[in-house]
Amino acid sequence: GSDMRLRLESSYSYANYYFPDGRQRIWSIPEDVLPVDVSGVEDLVYLLWQNENKSATVALFQETARLTQFAPAVPISQPRQIVATETAVYVLDMAGERLLDFHPQTGKLQAIFQLPMVTAFTASPDGSQLLFAGKDRLYFWQQPSNSRFIYGGTTLLGPQPHDTAVWQTSTPYGWPITGNFRDLTRRDLQMPGAPRHYRLGVHQGTDFYWANDTPVYAVAAGIVIRTMLDYEQPSQAAFNRRRAQNLELGYTTPDNLDFYRGQQIWVLQENGFVARYAHLGGIAWDVVEGTAVTVGQQIGTVGNSGSPVSVNSETADAHLHFELWLDDIYLGQFLRPIETRELLEQLFFPSNSNYGRFFTNSIFSTPFSYPIRQNLGGRVIFLHFLLYIKPPPSKNAP
Ligand SMILES: [Zn+2]
Repeated sequence: GSDMRLRLESSYSYANYYFPDGRQRIWSIPEDVLPVDVSGVEDLVYLLWQNENKSATVALFQETARLTQFAPAVPISQPRQIVATETAVYVLDMAGERLLDFHPQTGKLQAIFQLPMVTAFTASPDGSQLLFAGKDRLYFWQQPSNSRFIYGGTTLLGPQPHDTAVWQTSTPYGWPITGNFRDLTRRDLQMPGAPRHYRLGVHQGTDFYWANDTPVYAVAAGIVIRTMLDYEQPSQAAFNRRRAQNLELGYTTPDNLDFYRGQQIWVLQENGFVARYAHLGGIAWDVVEGTAVTVGQQIGTVGNSGSPVSVNSETADAHLHFELWLDDIYLGQFLRPIETRELLEQLFFPSNSNYGRFFTNSIFSTPFSYPIRQNLGGRVIFLHFLLYIKPPPSKNAP
């Protein structure tokens, strides 16, 4: 019902269910999966998660027990969002290019929408109305009164920093600490976009936890544009002053945000991005503003500078905080955790990532209309640039 509130804590892999009277229920999600999104109707809760092999699963829970009769047979990939309604459970997958419509009790496939790139969608409680947010317009489904597009201002030409394609690379980045891309954090709280309640702000980077004082390497070649060689550990009073200001203003000012990054190196990379290496314990003597660094070059060491615990300990919570910027947009800004994660995987290990694999391991063996129609034998209707494909009744039953 409308009083239901659900929260997915994907860093710690549990879900919360808040009742109207204030009670809450909490349950664990399997340890080896990555929760993506949650939605519910009445007392039914649908969880969308990604498995270790990058396939995705929708699981139905009542109370905290899983109801196994809900078993979608369609492979789901690059999951983005789930919305449960009385008549359909909708899953946006294929990085926003496909919407699956499952029967709410059985998980049987009811319909497939093939979409232009969609970043988010919503549905009416009875499931009959759908609204999609595209890159520069809204798409309505079954609403003749809203048959025109609503444009969000001037259509932007060319790639923009908030388009995920801008961040993709054909040359893999180097891993900035010991280890490799498999060590990318599984906790969304250590990724860009995570909340930072202590300073009423948002985390703009990715945390790489490794021992204090171990080397930090440049992920890509570029020119050093900022290096804090003469950094001094701030006092407790300085931290208190910053925190009081954040609380008074209700957000972290850019100046305070810079303070919390501690000792930093900024590198303007050859591709135009600026990499910021933060919380450093030290900086290599040859990392001087205006000089070049090469990929894999040691530029500093892991530390905890700028983090609130650094006042009491030089080693507690030591980690590298790494940000990537294009103009005034950071990698991960406006994105869901799963999208940021895919981008980072693509940066550090392109051939292992999901990118460019939208149509593998799915019922879309070949992209777009004719082959789909052939495969599924269903109707194809053009509506507001949406392709609506109705599958044959008996196929894909669980
Ligand atoms: Zn961080």
